[in-house]
Amino acid sequence: MDTPTRKRCPRCKRIKPRDQFHRNRRQSSGLSSWCKKCGSAYGRWYRTRADVRARNRERERLWRMMHRKPRRLPMTLEERLQRQREQDHRRYALHRPEQLQRVARYGRSPRGKATRLARRAGYRSNPRYRLEELAAMAVRRALEGRTFTRIWRERFGFSAEALRAHLMGTLPEGCTVDEVEVDHVRPKRGFAYERPEDPGFKAAWSLANLRLLPAAWHRLRA
Ligand SMILES: [Zn+2]
Repeated sequence: MDTPTRKRCPRCKRIKPRDQFHRNRRQSSGLSSWCKKCGSAYGRWYRTRADVRARNRERERLWRMMHRKPRRLPMTLEERLQRQREQDHRRYALHRPEQLQRVARYGRSPRGKATRLARRAGYRSNPRYRLEELAAMAVRRALEGRTFTRIWRERFGFSAEALRAHLMGTLPEGCTVDEVEVDHVRPKRGFAYERPEDPGFKAAWSLANLRLLPAAWHRLRA
């Protein structure tokens, strides 16, 4: 069959050589009916249509969703500790090499963030530590003039007013309230308790066992 070397574009109504038309198997001529120039002009206009743009955006969103990197799992405590140990080690090697020599000599790890992190995690998982943190907060607030919630009133067995009156009676001579800390006459560690219901709690946090000490002394005792 003899194929014509030129073809007419029905859009721009020009007769153009065959290479000015895209190939298209679905057409009997094997070429697109419109010329390349008209085809790309149409494509440019088509892609500006609001519905087409919305559809493309949706397709891209889906594509991104399918190809998104899986979210990294949160690190376990052991992983965090390991990473912190490595960071500590690098820091010591760089800035405080004598700390690493100490490790070699005494076989003890230098105190760094990893140590603190591990200790804090240990405390956190200890119900008593949490209880003491909250109890100390309630006591400090009472000293500042706040009242207890019903729960803390029951746990301590006295009111915030009674506590404040008692503590102010123990205010060291020449100190203001800003310069003191609440101290346990007999240290907390001497009392056995885990939960507020345990008898050791009421004993450790009894009025008789609480007093104010100058902040500097308190730190010495701790
Ligand atoms: Zn054309």
